[in-house]
Amino acid sequence: MMNKNTDFDVVIVGAGMVGATLACGLALKMPQLKIAVVDAFAPKLDWDENSFDIRVSAITRASQKLFRSIGAWENITRQRVSPYRDMFVWDAGGNGELHFDSADMGESDLGHIIENRVIVKALNQRMHDIENITLFCPAQLQKMEFNETQVVLTLSDQSRLTAKLIVGADGTQSWVRGQADIAVKGWDFDQAALVTTVKTEKYHQDTAWQRFLATGPLAFLPLAEGYSSIVWSTSPEEAKRLMLLSAGEFAAELEQAFDCKLGKVESVAERAVFPLRLFETLHYIQPRLALVGDAAHTIHPLAGQGVNLGLADTASLIAVIHSAISARKDIGSVAVLRQYERWRRADNRSMLVAMDGLKRLFGSELVAVKSIRNAGLNMVNQLTPLKNLIMQQAMGTTAID
Ligand SMILES: Cc1cc2nc3c(=O)[nH]c(=O)nc-3n(C[C@H](O)[C@H](O)[C@H](O)COP(=O)(O)OP(=O)(O)OC[C@H]3O[C@@H](n4cnc5c(N)ncnc54)[C@H](O)[C@@H]3O)c2cc1C
Repeated sequence: MMNKNTDFDVVIVGAGMVGATLACGLALKMPQLKIAVVDAFAPKLDWDENSFDIRVSAITRASQKLFRSIGAWENITRQRVSPYRDMFVWDAGGNGELHFDSADMGESDLGHIIENRVIVKALNQRMHDIENITLFCPAQLQKMEFNETQVVLTLSDQSRLTAKLIVGADGTQSWVRGQADIAVKGWDFDQAALVTTVKTEKYHQDTAWQRFLATGPLAFLPLAEGYSSIVWSTSPEEAKRLMLLSAGEFAAELEQAFDCKLGKVESVAERAVFPLRLFETLHYIQPRLALVGDAAHTIHPLAGQGVNLGLADTASLIAVIHSAISARKDIGSVAVLRQYERWRRADNRSMLVAMDGLKRLFGSELVAVKSIRNAGLNMVNQLTPLKNLIMQQAMGTTAID
């Protein structure tokens, strides 16, 4: 590490799906830029191919296009992806249902369910291939300081990285955000997501299924060979109880909660619980600093949009930096970074508010609310233009084109 050049144009903290995509996008579009990427952990690049990653993401068509543009999509598909062609949403508290079919949009699929480790591995290989990216992984961050022209980052081995701009892509607990003292505004959520992988008796039909229970949404996302990835959002206490059940007891409860839509749950892999948060930062930027992805905004996974919003952030930031460089402007100046903040805040805010509204609408046991949401679901299902608009939003085709 001591031999590495320590003077950069951009330092990105966090080599997750968002940070790594940003690094590749910036480095390819502007080969004259020197990019450093720092992550506290080295990525896991080997695993048992017979298992599935417990964490998966529904990747929209817009995010797929972005991965393709940085040369990562082929590598992702070479590993393993599962296209989903339909989405079926229904309410446990009534007869409301909503069905989206990619064929109605003249598309072959609505997006892909992809294991997070597959995406991270492809991006990591891409970062290694690109000459103007220098990786510091694993490396521990110690200090972040600013002067008029630079940010100075000190690592725990006392090496120093300087840059014109630092980007915090270090997730929901962002160290960069904390050091910069940027406050977050959150909604009280009190929910956790239990995730696991199951094999069901009936084939999932390449459909992303979601049932709204009073305790929160339960999703079955289609994986290869008839497996499904489960995201069961519920109260933290209920998640804890579900974790303590034997595999057989858990499978029986899952079948019930899912209305036996895919028949018996035949096998259950390891289970894990993630706390769910919903917040956005009061500012996405400061002089010489920008936040992207979960560091800037974290949403409920019910619409499968979290990483897609983060990837849209990267597309915007790349475009803003590119036009600043072309105009010979300082890429760390507030005047430049403000364009990124304005661009992304509006989109991210509307998704955050929509997620909060949906969560409250479907979390209510009030009879009046239940009948409104059932009628609403059925109405949307019959209104083709509105349905198409929602589908475009879900596919991300209104976001990054
Ligand atoms: C249960 C669940 C299901 C989800 N399903 C979906 C879905 O279907 N579709 C979707 O779009 N989104 C989904 N999401 C959201 C999605 O997972 C996140 O939005 C996404 O992972 C955020 O990516 P990121 O790169 O911003 O942050 P992360 O993935 O959190 O990456 C942050 C990176 O920063 C590094 N880091 C952290 N701290 C430091 C530090 N101090 N120093 C250096 N490096 C550091 C980490 O090691 C990591 O590599 C889901 C979330 C949950 C909880």
